[in-house]
Amino acid sequence: MLTAVSKTQPPQAIDAALAAGQRVFGENRVQEAEARWSGRDRTGLELRLIGPLQTNKAADAVALFDVIESLDREKLARALADAAQKAGKAPRVLVQVNTGAEDQKAGVLPKDADALIATARTLGLNVEGLMCIPPADEAAGPHFALLARIAARNGLKVLSMGMSGDFETAIRFGATHVRVGTALFGERNPR
Ligand SMILES: *Cc1c(COP(=O)(O)O)cnc(C)c1O
Repeated sequence: MLTAVSKTQPPQAIDAALAAGQRVFGENRVQEAEARWSGRDRTGLELRLIGPLQTNKAADAVALFDVIESLDREKLARALADAAQKAGKAPRVLVQVNTGAEDQKAGVLPKDADALIATARTLGLNVEGLMCIPPADEAAGPHFALLARIAARNGLKVLSMGMSGDFETAIRFGATHVRVGTALFGERNPR
């Protein structure tokens, strides 16, 4: 599945992708996504949150997104479960894994992933799979392989991995969803 990463793209770029039949879109900020999508007819579309989520935006995220790919801590799992209950609408969820254990990057550490998946399931969240963003300066393959192993041992089917620079590698390692921005839309506008 191709997730078209539409963050920072002008409305015409999204119009063009829709006209070409693209139906799955990824956004990395809740407010920006609201501005871009809440005024559109979203029938038949799937919106996926691929960026970090603060607990105080959990309700907004549940309202807008079909899939939240950035669950990375217990506190957020609780906030999402709460928001889902209040909204009567449960998003599908991916757990983001920080496969390179990078300080500046979001995601649960690989060693803590099994526990977070279990907690999220206990809270009633619909955990479908895993997401990762490998370190920019390393070969991506081993990171994709690690994500696939964590998914397999937890019985998870969805693997969101691979971006413009490495989606072919990700597909070789079993990606079910690649998140492609610049290779599809061209360079992003500055925010
Ligand atoms: C921006 C972004 C992408 C797309 O990146 P490109 O290199 O432009 O394809 C994919 N995943 C995440 C989480 C992103 O923030």
